[in-house]
Amino acid sequence: MAHVLLVEDDSQVREMLLETLKQEGHDVTEASNGKEAVAAYRANPPDIVITDIIMPGQDGVETIHTIRREFPNAKIIAISGGSANIRGEYLLGTADALGALKTFSKPVDVGELLDAIDSLMS
Ligand SMILES: [Mg+2]
Repeated sequence: MAHVLLVEDDSQVREMLLETLKQEGHDVTEASNGKEAVAAYRANPPDIVITDIIMPGQDGVETIHTIRREFPNAKIIAISGGSANIRGEYLLGTADALGALKTFSKPVDVGELLDAIDSLMS
C-alpha cells in the first residue's frame, strides 16, 4: 500500500485513476493542478506522485521540477496525452529528464501503472 498524490486537471481521468488506486488499497490525495500538488506534497509528503503534464495554472513539468528540487528522493510518475500542438512523447521526455522515474502515455494502461507503483515501492 502506498500513499499516492494524484495530480490531474481532468476530473474524469482523475476519478477513474482514484477509484483504481483505492481498489488496489492505496491511500490517495488528489490535486487538480501543480500548485495544489506542491502544497499537498509539502503538507504531507506522499510515497509516490502521479502527475499529468498539461494543466492550467502550474503544469506538470514545473511541478516535477519544484518537487524534485525540494525533495530530491521524490518518486514521480508522469502521464500525458499531449495536446493538439505538443506530442505526449515530447512532454514525457521532458518529465523524464527532470527526474520522473516512470512515464506513461494516455490513455494510461492501469495495470502497467499499478505495476509501476509496486516496483517503485519495493
Ligand atoms: Mg491535463
